[in-house]
Amino acid sequence: MPRKDMTEQNPVNQVAAKPVPTLPDAQTVTAVRHYTDRLFSFRVTRPASLRFRSGEFVMIGLMGDPDPKTGKQKPLLRAYSIASPAWDDELEFYSIKVQDGPLTSKLQHIQPGDQIILRPKPVGTLVHDALLPGKRLWFFATGTGIAPFASLLREPETYERFDEVIITHTTRDVAELTYGRELIESIRSDELLAELIGEENLAKLRYYPTTTREQSPKMGRITTLLEDGTLFEDLGIDGIAPDIDRAMVCGSIGLNTDLKRILESFGLQEGANSDPKHYVVEKAFVG
Ligand SMILES: Cc1cc2nc3c(=O)[nH]c(=O)nc-3n(C[C@H](O)[C@H](O)[C@H](O)COP(=O)(O)OP(=O)(O)OC[C@H]3O[C@@H](n4cnc5c(N)ncnc54)[C@H](O)[C@@H]3O)c2cc1C
Repeated sequence: MPRKDMTEQNPVNQVAAKPVPTLPDAQTVTAVRHYTDRLFSFRVTRPASLRFRSGEFVMIGLMGDPDPKTGKQKPLLRAYSIASPAWDDELEFYSIKVQDGPLTSKLQHIQPGDQIILRPKPVGTLVHDALLPGKRLWFFATGTGIAPFASLLREPETYERFDEVIITHTTRDVAELTYGRELIESIRSDELLAELIGEENLAKLRYYPTTTREQSPKMGRITTLLEDGTLFEDLGIDGIAPDIDRAMVCGSIGLNTDLKRILESFGLQEGANSDPKHYVVEKAFVG
């Protein structure tokens, strides 16, 4: 699991980010791993009372800067998919670094031992409850949109419910695929995961990474590869159909809109927690 790779310890003489001990929702960072100048992942302690369904998101953040007039600090919170599965005793997050982003310009500097704020109210549509039973499950992710699927891919229920599980992950550059590639490798090689998911279930998992800018073995937007049939040809699949296929989508608003149109052209209908159907969508970010 990625957890094993994240062994960086906070040097004793390093100044930790401002702790937030007065907040009941403070959690301690246990590991941080940087992938590129735009991407990192981290793990934090899990509140004993926090129950969530794999695929859901929570609000996390840090204390904002003091108000110049009053000196008061307010929490600066953003939505984050929980990337770890529901059975894990810690919480993992996979994050963008927006250089002038109010939260991530600061969050990217967290170190083990620092504290973050976590509001323990998980919600979201990328959950098994929002899908009708089917034979094949597709996860369509771009960028940090792989985070909810990093949770669901480590969830035994995913493999119990479906005969085949296909994850497509599209990024601009090859290095941006690293988190997902290592996740898939760990699912296939980690003894604990293999035991939890079941060796025979692991054979159901198929991984389809693509890049849009940097040269890689498979180039192209997933929408193009779906519409021109390349994806199906590469995977040896006839196509997507509502009696077989279920899908979860997590990307930019533009990607989500395009994929909704494509999935509906195959006859799939959008589901929700209260009304499970063939596919569900969630924004990886706003804007
Ligand atoms: C339901 C939901 C789940 C989310 N889950 C995650 C997650 O798991 N990991 C994560 O990194 N972010 C996630 N986000 C985005 C997150 O809430 C913040 O926008 C992000 O952390 C940046 O915060 P910021 O304050 O630094 O900048 P913001 O002011 O929030 O964003 C500034 C700009 O940066 C861009 N941006 C923001 N987030 C991303 C991103 N993830 N990828 C590419 N560009 C982005 C957008 O153009 C945005 O307008 C999620 C958002 C939603 C709505």
